[in-house]
Amino acid sequence: MKDEYDVVVVGAGNAAFCAALGARENGARVLVLERAPEEEAGGNSRFTAGLMRVAYNGVEDLKRVMPDLSPEEIARTDFGTYTEEQCLDDMARVTEYRCDPDLTEILVKRSLDTVAWMRSKGVRFTAAWGRQAFNIGGKFKFWGGLTVEAVGGGPGLVDALTTAARKNGIDVWYRARATGLIADDEGVKGVQVRRDGKTTHVAAKSVVLAAGGFQANPEWRARYLGPGWELAKVRGTRFNTGDAIRIALDIGAAPVGNWSGCHAVAWDRNAPEFGDLAVGDQFQKHSYPWGVYLNAEGKRFVDEGADFRNYTYAKYGRVILAQPGQFAWQIFDAKVKAQLRDEYKIRQVTKRVANTLEDLVKQLDDVDAQAALAELKAYNAAVRTDLPFNPNVKDGRSTQGLAIPKSNWANTLDTAPFEAYAVTCGITFSFGGLRINTDTQVISTDGQPIPGLYAAGELVGGIFYFNYPGGTGLTNGSVFGRIAGTNAAKVAMA
Ligand SMILES: Cc1cc2nc3c(=O)[nH]c(=O)nc-3n(C[C@H](O)[C@H](O)[C@H](O)COP(=O)(O)OP(=O)(O)OC[C@H]3O[C@@H](n4cnc5c(N)ncnc54)[C@H](O)[C@@H]3O)c2cc1C
Repeated sequence: MKDEYDVVVVGAGNAAFCAALGARENGARVLVLERAPEEEAGGNSRFTAGLMRVAYNGVEDLKRVMPDLSPEEIARTDFGTYTEEQCLDDMARVTEYRCDPDLTEILVKRSLDTVAWMRSKGVRFTAAWGRQAFNIGGKFKFWGGLTVEAVGGGPGLVDALTTAARKNGIDVWYRARATGLIADDEGVKGVQVRRDGKTTHVAAKSVVLAAGGFQANPEWRARYLGPGWELAKVRGTRFNTGDAIRIALDIGAAPVGNWSGCHAVAWDRNAPEFGDLAVGDQFQKHSYPWGVYLNAEGKRFVDEGADFRNYTYAKYGRVILAQPGQFAWQIFDAKVKAQLRDEYKIRQVTKRVANTLEDLVKQLDDVDAQAALAELKAYNAAVRTDLPFNPNVKDGRSTQGLAIPKSNWANTLDTAPFEAYAVTCGITFSFGGLRINTDTQVISTDGQPIPGLYAAGELVGGIFYFNYPGGTGLTNGSVFGRIAGTNAAKVAMA
């Protein structure tokens, strides 16, 4: 083997760079392998808004992550608190009490410290005023535990991490795809790589796998998520096809977690097959709590107001995929127009506008217009207009008597112009993956750690089931990436 490193990290997204930086600060010589060319590098992390879920007890904690917060910004913002207990509760609740308790505790308890550590490496953060706060009487109030975002969103995050890696003397190879692990009875000794189309071997004392899930692999989607999933659109990178999961399983790693589950959202019906970095996450359509959904049969099919958007959006993609034709329309009236998120204003949007509901339903491609009109009228008649609408809390303004209720934020559709947006299912990432222990060592099917092998990020199983609290994906990669890199280096340098 002509190349030799202490630690080789597979992948160049958030988890991978946190691992590389963690390994480097512990003295290791580190190589990062990125399958993508440089212009498409950074994995799903680059497609994100850069939102990170962090537990905090108040603004003093947040200042560790965002030391640039000005006194004026602090004065005009109610950051509230998002305690470790709240965060643990959210993880448990949305995963239906399946998330691995030990890993989840680490994820939550190390969240603040890890993001502050990233700041120390040069990644800058700001408060997510634009996305996660409502302006109440001139003061921004944060809700839903999602307060921190990387400056420049996902692209800013990946740029900052790449710069930090270079500054710290970490080598990065682009167009370098890990195709196998070199291992014997004593553990992992290196990685087989296809670099610029040529196969080569890199020796390593330890290897960190951080190469994402399998969501960009339609064959694995159909195989593990189930029939129909090959028809979903991929929201992010086309390079996360399950490679690192496969090469670990090949040497006896144990699979764990929700292999038939994934994070999937409402995504523009006419979006391309994979994510488009120029559009980023803007094909998503997340304002459904303020309106209603209709399917091809003209029927509502889900409680749009079951909970805050943060706690439902990641599981509703699956619900849309299950509809006839795998699409749905979101319908709003003018009363909530100002509340629609920025992603509704992009040029690449599938949108219809009309001055009456009668005209609107006729414009909904592939929908039974008559049934749709009847459904909207029945919905309007069922809204509890005696209760006030309040987007800042679960307002209990519901429908009554409908087979599919709307539990909060039920507004009548009565004010022109009416708008409709066509969506399908966009898959974000798969939930099933490799079993790790709390030191991020990959565990074998015999229940023992595989010496020299660590994993972090999207390809780890056992953390997310059914659903996911928004902003946990990046935090998960950062927390466990840092631990993986640190431990991989310690073993390599011993
Ligand atoms: C549109 C969108 C918006 C999102 N918004 C948010 C958000 O705001 N907040 C949040 O927390 N999460 C968000 N997520 C989820 C988040 O992106 C992921 O949870 C997180 O980025 C995963 O990080 P990772 O480092 O594990 O994987 P990735 O960032 O996907 O990195 C995987 C890397 O591995 C590389 N790779 C793959 N195969 C190989 C191979 N064989 N050899 C070498 N390299 C390989 C890939 O090219 C890539 O660089 C979003 C996802 C999408 C798609």
